[in-house]
Amino acid sequence: MKICTKCKMEKPVTEFYKHRGTCKECYRTQANINSKKNVERRRQYYLSNKEKILEKRKQYVMDSQELRKEWYKKYSLIHKDELIRKSREYYHNHKDKCRERARQYRIRNGDKINEISRLYRSNHKNEIKKKNSLYRLTHQEQLQLLQQKLHKKYIRELGDCYIKQILTQKSILSYADIPKELIELKRLQIKIKRLLNEKPDKNTC
Ligand SMILES: [Zn+2]
Repeated sequence: MKICTKCKMEKPVTEFYKHRGTCKECYRTQANINSKKNVERRRQYYLSNKEKILEKRKQYVMDSQELRKEWYKKYSLIHKDELIRKSREYYHNHKDKCRERARQYRIRNGDKINEISRLYRSNHKNEIKKKNSLYRLTHQEQLQLLQQKLHKKYIRELGDCYIKQILTQKSILSYADIPKELIELKRLQIKIKRLLNEKPDKNTC
């Protein structure tokens, strides 16, 4: 048995931590009070040094930016497949949000994007050429189909390109010579022609 220096009660030795004069219960109570005091002290310190602390934190974030970039580079190399899979999954589940975000990004950074892609194209001319011709070779059928589909769409919807094509046929005019108004007029003319040529509906006759 041992007497606690705090509550002065006689308790079995098992109720004491080693080399402590206070019993376990008193020890815990005191530790609890101390920790609460600590929290309060830290809170007070934070409140009276807020600006200094925030500035320090900001500095730390800036200083560690390079480090984090480096770390992320390594991480993304190791976990490449997983990251790609995850980002595809995310895109699939949040298509509208992702598209809108990309649109906003393009609006904000249009000049930057154009400049980067211009630089890339001029630095990788031969590579791009090779890639394109290889792609055309290995995707001949698909490309043909796509072209036909696009052409049909242009004809159906009377796209600017299609109208320009008609206007420049058998003429010395080039696409650039054709004003917007002329395109509109030609489109209207074709629409009227089409309406007149439409076969009457069997049911209404
Ligand atoms: Zn005690």
